[in-house]
This record gives sequence, C-alpha cells and structure tokens, in this order.
Amino acid sequence: MSNFICRYCQHMKMTGRANPNGNNYGLKGPRGECFCEHPKAIESFRRVCPKSPRMAGFIDFTPPGDDYPALKTSPQWCPLKREVAK
Ligand code: SF4
Repeated sequence: MSNFICRYCQHMKMTGRANPNGNNYGLKGPRGECFCEHPKAIESFRRVCPKSPRMAGFIDFTPPGDDYPALKTSPQWCPLKREVAK
C-alpha cells in the first residue's frame, strides 16, 4: 500500500479542463486533466510505462467538476514511490 496520494501531493497539477460540450452537459462540469510535475515524473513514467499511449506524467482525469484526480492513490511510476523503493 502506498503512502503517496496524488490528490494531496504538492506535485500534482490540474493543467486543463475539457470545454463544456454535449458529452458532459448535465454533469457537474467538465473533467480536468491531472499531471505530475515532480522533476523526475517524465523520466520515471517512461521507464516504468514505456508502451503507455498516454502523455508522460499524466495521472488521471478528475471526476466531473472536481479539482483532484479520481485515482485514490498514485500511479505505479510515481517518482516519490520509486525513490522510497530504492
Ligand atoms: S505521481 Fe507521486 S509525485 Fe506525482 S503527484 Fe502523484 S503522488 Fe505526487
């Protein structure tokens, strides 16, 4: 079990939000995109998930209208988690 939780982490940044459109109309709002801005996030992501089609550092979307990732912990490539595992 990891102690690192993106939604409480200083490195988590919500960088964008989809525009309100037909897909999210009626929900609480558009979903945001959350990225990790830890200096080693990109390197760690590429090392752990070399075949991922996602943008390096992408954590998760937020639930509609929310400001934090839906993910309850942190991704496998979390650089803090990997530092502790060394
Ligand atoms: S991946 Fe790790 S370092 Fe990055 S925001 Fe999540 S908990 Fe923080």
